[in-house]
Amino acid sequence: MSGVGKGIAASSIGAIFKARGFTVTMIKIDPYINVDAGTMNPTEHGEVFVLEDGDETDQDMGNYERFLNISLTRTNYMTTGRVYQEVIRKERNLEYKGKNVEVVPDIPFEIIRRIELASDKANSDITIIEIGGTIGEYQNMLFLEAARMMKSRAHDDVAFVMVSYLPIPSKIGEMKTKPTQYASRTLNSAGIQTDLIIARASVPLDQKRKDKIAMFCNIKTEGVISAPDVESIYDVPINFERDNLSSVLGAVLKLNLKNKPLNFGPWKSFVNKSKSVKKEVNIAVVGKYFSSGDFILSDVYISVLEALKYSAYKLNHKIKLHYIGSQTFEKDAKKPTRQLGGLKELNQYDGILVPGGFGSNGVEGIISVIQYAREHKIPYFGLCYGMQLLVIEYARHVLKLKDANTAEINKDSKNLVIDIMPDQKKKVAEGNYGGTMRLGAYEAVITRGTVAYEAYKNDAVEERHRHRYEVNPDYIQKLTDAGLVFSGKSPDGILMEIAELPKSKHPFFLGTQFHPEFLARPLAPHPLFTAFIKASIKKGS
Ligand code: GLN
Repeated sequence: MSGVGKGIAASSIGAIFKARGFTVTMIKIDPYINVDAGTMNPTEHGEVFVLEDGDETDQDMGNYERFLNISLTRTNYMTTGRVYQEVIRKERNLEYKGKNVEVVPDIPFEIIRRIELASDKANSDITIIEIGGTIGEYQNMLFLEAARMMKSRAHDDVAFVMVSYLPIPSKIGEMKTKPTQYASRTLNSAGIQTDLIIARASVPLDQKRKDKIAMFCNIKTEGVISAPDVESIYDVPINFERDNLSSVLGAVLKLNLKNKPLNFGPWKSFVNKSKSVKKEVNIAVVGKYFSSGDFILSDVYISVLEALKYSAYKLNHKIKLHYIGSQTFEKDAKKPTRQLGGLKELNQYDGILVPGGFGSNGVEGIISVIQYAREHKIPYFGLCYGMQLLVIEYARHVLKLKDANTAEINKDSKNLVIDIMPDQKKKVAEGNYGGTMRLGAYEAVITRGTVAYEAYKNDAVEERHRHRYEVNPDYIQKLTDAGLVFSGKSPDGILMEIAELPKSKHPFFLGTQFHPEFLARPLAPHPLFTAFIKASIKKGS
C-alpha cells in the first residue's frame, strides 16, 4: 500500500546488508505508464529525483542513494511504460524474429532482463527490488509474475518480503492481523509465498500477533519483523536488526553471514547525534508546492530537507523548519498562503532557502525575499530557480535593470538575464520541450578564494542538474562588474554554475544552477549546505 513505508523498508534492508559488507544495488519499479517521473505534478507525486545520468525518477531513488550512500543509474528505475516501450521497440526492430509477442511471458521476460542488467552493472551480491503499488491490483501483476518466474528459476537466490499495515481500530484498541493474512493469500494466488513480513503498525507487535501472522501466512515466527512508527526514518534499519532481519533473510538466501559482521557504527552515531542535538537553527524554506488542501506536502522537497538536516547535525544543531508559501509576499496575492506582517518578519529566521521550481507563481514574492535577505544580511541559499531569481534580483536592484527577468516568465522583457541557450531555443520552437532540459551530472570549475571554494575545497566538482534556462552570457560581465561573483562555471566557461557575494559583503548569499541536495547523504553531508547552515547558526547566535 502506498505511504506505508515500502521505500524506507527497502532502503533499510539495503543499508543493513551494505553494513554487513555486501555489495548491494536497488531497483524501483513504479507500475504506472509514465516513462519517467519528470512530467508528473509534484503535488501529486512528490519530488522528482534526478540521477547522475539525468534520469528523472521517483523520490524513493533518493532514499536508496541516501541510505546506502551509492549512486544509481537509469537501469535501476523501471516503469510499466519503460518496459512496454522497450518490448514494442524490439518488436518493431524484428528482434522477436517474427514470433507472436505476448503480454506473458514477453513482458515479464523484459522485466527480468532489466533486473539482471542492473545487478550485473552494479556487480552486486544482493539486488533489492521494490515493487510499487498494492498487492491485488492490476497494475503490478506482471511484475509479480516476473518475480515468481525468477524464484522458480533460482529458488535460493530469490526471497520475498511483504510490507503490510496492521491497523488498530480506535474503538477496539486491538491490533488486527486479518488484512495481512488476506494480503498474504492474495500474494499466494499470484504464485508467491512471502518469506518475511514487515509488520508496519503504530506500535511494535506482541508475540501473540507474530505467532498468528506466522501461522496464517505460512512463515516462521522470526520472519515477522516488527516495524512500529518511529521518530526518524533512520531508526528503521536499527529496528529491523532488533528482529534479526539480516540473519532471517540471509538464511532464506543461504548467505554465509559468518564473516560478515554488521558494521553499524557510523550509522548509529549519525542517528544518536540526530537525537541528542538540542540547539536549533531556524531555516525558512520559501517554495511553491507546500499545500494540498489542508496538508503540508514536505515530500516535494524531501532531498532539500534531508540535506539541511545532515549538515545541521554535523554542526551539532537541529533544523527548525518554517515553510513559507512563495505567494506569501506577493503584493497582489489574492490568497496568500500565510499572512506575515511584511518582509521584516524574515529577520526572525537564521537562514532562508529557495529551492528549485518552475513557472511564474509566487516569483515576484520570492524576489522580494531575496532582496530583503541580501540587504539585511540574512544567509540566503538558492537552488536552481533560487539561483536564477538571485541573479534577477541583483540585476534589478543593483544593476538597475528594472525589467530584468527570465525568459520562462516574460520573453518580451528587454533584459533577459536568464535565458534559454541558443541551441536549446531551436528545440523549444519545435515544441520539443522534453529534450531541452539540462539533466544529470555536469562538471563545474570552482574559483579559488570564493565562498564556494572554501566549502568544497576542490577545484572541480560534479553536480546534478535539472533546468532549461541559464544565466545569459551577455550579462555576465555587467553582473560581475556590479559585484556578483560567478564562483562556479562549466569547464568551457560559458555556463554559470554558482553565483555568490563575497564574504566581505554578505555572510552567505549564494545560489547554484544545479541541485546540490541530490548528493547530500546522512554519512556525507553536502559542503554547500554545511556552509549555509554554518552561516545561519552564526546569525542566530
Ligand atoms: N525553471 C527553471 C529552469 O527551467 C529552474 C528549474 C529548477 O529549479 N529545477 O531553468
